[in-house]
Amino acid sequence: MSKLRFRVVEAAFNKKAIDVPTPSELPSEFFASKVFNREKMFKYLPGEAFAKLSESIEDGVLLDHETADAVATGMKKWAIEMGATHYTHWFHPLTEGTAEKHDAFADPDGKGGMIEKFSGKLLIQQEPDASSFPSGGIRNTFEARGYTAWDPSSPAFIIADTLCIPTIFISYTGESLDYKAPLLKALEAVNKAAVDVCHYFNPDVKKVVAYLGWEQEYFLVDAGLYSARPDLLLTGRTLMGHESSKNQQLEDHYFGAIPTRVLEYMKELEIEALKLGIPLKTRHNEVAPNQFELAPVFEECNLSNDHNLMVMALMRKLSRKHGFRVLLHEKPFKGVNGSGKHNNWSLGTNTGILLMAPGKTPEENLRFITFVVNVLKAVYKHNALLKASIASASNAHRLGANEAPPAIISSFLGTQVSAVLERLENTDANEVVVAGKQGLKLDVARIPEILLDNTDRNRTSPFAFTGNRFEFRAVGSEANCAAAMLVLNAAVAEQLKLFKAEVDEKIAAGKAPFAAIIEVLRKDIKESKAIHFDGNGYSEEWKAEAEKRGLDCETSVPLIIDAYLREESVKMFESTGVMTHKELEARNEVKWEMYTKKVQIEARVLGDLAMNHIIPMATRYQSSLIDNVYKMRDLFPADKAATLSAKNLEIIEDIANHISYIKEKVDELVEARKVANKIECEREKAIAYHDTIFPMLDKIRYHIDKLELVVDDEIWSLPKYRELLFIR
Ligand code: ADP
Ligand code: MG
Repeated sequence: MSKLRFRVVEAAFNKKAIDVPTPSELPSEFFASKVFNREKMFKYLPGEAFAKLSESIEDGVLLDHETADAVATGMKKWAIEMGATHYTHWFHPLTEGTAEKHDAFADPDGKGGMIEKFSGKLLIQQEPDASSFPSGGIRNTFEARGYTAWDPSSPAFIIADTLCIPTIFISYTGESLDYKAPLLKALEAVNKAAVDVCHYFNPDVKKVVAYLGWEQEYFLVDAGLYSARPDLLLTGRTLMGHESSKNQQLEDHYFGAIPTRVLEYMKELEIEALKLGIPLKTRHNEVAPNQFELAPVFEECNLSNDHNLMVMALMRKLSRKHGFRVLLHEKPFKGVNGSGKHNNWSLGTNTGILLMAPGKTPEENLRFITFVVNVLKAVYKHNALLKASIASASNAHRLGANEAPPAIISSFLGTQVSAVLERLENTDANEVVVAGKQGLKLDVARIPEILLDNTDRNRTSPFAFTGNRFEFRAVGSEANCAAAMLVLNAAVAEQLKLFKAEVDEKIAAGKAPFAAIIEVLRKDIKESKAIHFDGNGYSEEWKAEAEKRGLDCETSVPLIIDAYLREESVKMFESTGVMTHKELEARNEVKWEMYTKKVQIEARVLGDLAMNHIIPMATRYQSSLIDNVYKMRDLFPADKAATLSAKNLEIIEDIANHISYIKEKVDELVEARKVANKIECEREKAIAYHDTIFPMLDKIRYHIDKLELVVDDEIWSLPKYRELLFIR
């Protein structure tokens, strides 16, 4: 082992776990202690302000200035008592992660002193200098004005000494520049559309909430080893590294004992997350070595997504404290499972009903089927768009490999629900007797019993029904869930609206409501059949079959993203009020640009490492072999020396071949980049990066990985997979 490598590996092995003290209070006692939730609002706000704020949170009613001032004052008082000195508008720009700019509460009082100030105006709206956030050209840099506006539906929280106020981020002319603004609009759209459909079954429903329960997968790597790998450091993934002789084939990591160092990290992460009101519930090892997962209890979608972003930030921060680095990249290691973030999604009413769960009465089950079928139809119609919503340069490594959802969106329903839909579809309309409210002669009433033992779980499906929800499994571990959630909720909203229009038309023509619903459902089941697939999503046959069914099979990320601008997508976004054509165009510019930048950085890092790490190491070892060959000649007669050196000569030649290939390809890579960089159109540029530059990375890597196998371990300075993945 090289000296440097030895030093970092040894340090990693000897690192002690940090003992995280168990809090003296129970989780139920410190839960949400750092959140300005209802309880604190009640305590810190005057009665009227509390009532108005509650109304605003529940029904989106705008706050007047007086109330905003009262809320700001109460919030400030609480925050200062909690030790906060600063506040920030916290938002989700179109980059990864979140953004914030901190301002101190303290302000000159005009008399030579300072006073802690925070007004309703500062709470509600701010203008960060936003020129450096991606906007896809919506906000020209000369009018660098975008502003952040408070989202009262997600409570403020404290991190370290700062009060964080969740906000949306929009341009001066009102276009959204973030993930939150369109998500909120999509949630509102689905609320309205679903409430209307619920009224066929229950006129008391006033509100429908979309729920999200995410499952976050991640890797932990020792911080010392991480910093000795420039590729991990700069790109979040290893651009080289031969597979370890042992990786996940024994499947001994999954649900195995969690190593102490990791456990202490998880423990602190949980404590801090609970204080922030994030209801973390499960933690376990994942399939790959050093891979783990955590999941909270599901919450309202917007809040849950904020919590996911907060957790990712906490994970990054605490991993450093514990001597780790957390890898949220979807595919940090080749040949080892990547990380995803399953998005469990459902709709629920203010009357406490989960709309994607079967009920006890025939009406309840018809409602259940109504929602399931409408979701299927929406997913079918927008399958290309849903794929676009999870597509990124990093997630592309994971999709389509035999470990993650395939690059084709389909939906698994399981035998029971499939059977119910089939029966409904094939029942002659006249057989469906709709006598009054109870007279459905369908077997739908019997669903609950059979669903109880719904154990058939299909892990290969990207969009699976799992009992009372759908699980969108193609979302990337690093992604902002909002990207997928805003598309899904908006698509379902659009579909529910169309469904209602069709049903109402039939009712107006004299059909009984349930009969009308059943008729439309039967048609929709037929029409969206192509999306329903319960088989093995990893199989080659499925690819061919999906193509035949007309599902989107595109695999190139820059082209997948085109789906946002398809006519039916634009129509869907505009009719639901979620995004305008202009916004969609701008956001696609950002997506293509991001794609290009990611691949560009990887290409640069790989080129640099190849030239200043790999080739020098390989040459050094090769020189020592050459030296040996010459010495053999000094020592032995010529023909004997030749025989004895034959194998070393082979290695020398081998190394020379790899080196010359690598050098040649790195030169080509530089040239290809120069050509691509001249392309002005972001879309075309991204396509060039995808088609010509990206494939070269793997080709170069292949030869580097071969060298790793032959070059003397004494010389190899980059930590190897076996060290990165198995250090505790
Ligand atoms: P898995 O077996 O897929 O690993 P888990 O039980 O670990 O599932 O996690 C499932 C996630 O789904 C949790 O976050 C859970 O709160 C969430 N969940 C459960 N029911 C619903 C629902 N009706 N809507 C949304 N999310 C849900
Ligand atoms: Mg899951």
